[in-house]
Amino acid sequence: MEIVQHSSLKNHHTFGIHVSAAVLAHIDQPEELAELAVMKSLPPIALVLGGGSNILFTRPVNGTVIHNRIKGISILRENEQYVWVRAMAGVVWHDLVKFALSHNLGGIENLALIPGYVGAAPVQNIGAYGAEAKDTIESVVCWHLEEKNFFTLNVAACRLGYRDSIFKQELKGKTIITSVDFRMDKYPRPNTAYGAIRQELEKAGVDKPTIQTVAAAVIAIRRSKLPDPTVINNAGSFFKNPVITTAQLAIIHKDYPEMPFYPADEQMVKIPAGWLTEQAGWKGYRKGDAGVHPHQALVLVNYGHALGTEILALSDTIMQSVQSRFGILLEREVQIW
Ligand code: FAD
Ligand code: NAP
Repeated sequence: MEIVQHSSLKNHHTFGIHVSAAVLAHIDQPEELAELAVMKSLPPIALVLGGGSNILFTRPVNGTVIHNRIKGISILRENEQYVWVRAMAGVVWHDLVKFALSHNLGGIENLALIPGYVGAAPVQNIGAYGAEAKDTIESVVCWHLEEKNFFTLNVAACRLGYRDSIFKQELKGKTIITSVDFRMDKYPRPNTAYGAIRQELEKAGVDKPTIQTVAAAVIAIRRSKLPDPTVINNAGSFFKNPVITTAQLAIIHKDYPEMPFYPADEQMVKIPAGWLTEQAGWKGYRKGDAGVHPHQALVLVNYGHALGTEILALSDTIMQSVQSRFGILLEREVQIW
């Protein structure tokens, strides 16, 4: 464990905004959470950070920030069909994907190159290219900040939904995930349902996809399309794709017949939020150092010295403009501190 007083969090999140933390505690073992809980000299734990790729800071943190550095990937057991893999919460997500690919274990290949750590994967049930973390997560081990004990939640209890989970609801701010168990498939069935993957595989001349070629396709698409936070500060999609009823869709389609949609739950459809923000004219917008990426209207960026409050205010204005034009209320995906 390493404890730093009055630390800047600028290099610990991908928006690159300077905010201070009263205490930053880097944790290397789950047991250190129990040690921290009895250290009277430290302010209470206020927040846990992984890779900081899904958070916007708008104010300093007066408490203790935990930076999760708990590493390790191990195979727990296997049967004819599956292998159960435990990844500690501080493992970089893409390193787990590489582990799965090298052992030819299927289930998370479509989630290649998503930034961040394993511990945050259940928090918003990360998803991309037709797959979600919930497809493979079996259970999650957490530390309870008030009860000061470890407990395990099975996947049903985690209530993983579209970019949502119990960790963003009832357990928000109350738990620290220390490890996640995954059930991976020994006989992978590559998922190429997402149009962009099929196109990329075709381009690469792949006619019999494997999890390795699907992951390579996802990596190629992501590198060509998505802004790299090491080059330009951002936290990926700022808003969730709104889910509306088919009745609402029919009304909006009268004025905007070209509006794309994808089936969600029964009687519901998902609208790409990036299409809505682009149509509302936000693509490439910039005020000071806060802006909207010129090629991705769903990604808000900090060009250098934007304040978190400026980016938050920009997101409010975008939400208002989308609502007044389409009658759809966007919801932020990025966590606001
Ligand atoms: P952080 O930003 O550190 O934390 C996010 C939230 O989770 C915070 O509220 C934090 O307190 C909480 N948290 C973190 N770790 C723990 C823990 N151990 N226990 C309890 N709570 C915890 N997301 C997708 O779903 N799909 C994508 O395709 C995708 N693409 C992205 C592309 C780019 C370029 C970027 C910048 C982001 C993208 N994201 C995507 C968003 C982000 O990468 C994911 O949400 C990721 O899981 C965040 O991980 P993190 O470790 O950086 O979390
Ligand atoms: P895209 O391929 O241009 O598609 C735009 C939107 O349409 C996506 O958000 C996607 O919803 C939806 N979509 C497209 N094809 C679909 C299909 N066949 N079935 C269902 N939904 C479909 O999107 P993009 O911006 O380049 O992102 C590609 C993928 O990476 C998406 O899955 C996206 O979620 C993910 N991503 C997420 C983040 C983040 O921060 N959360 C950042 C970058 C990329 P879904 O989002 O539900 O897939």
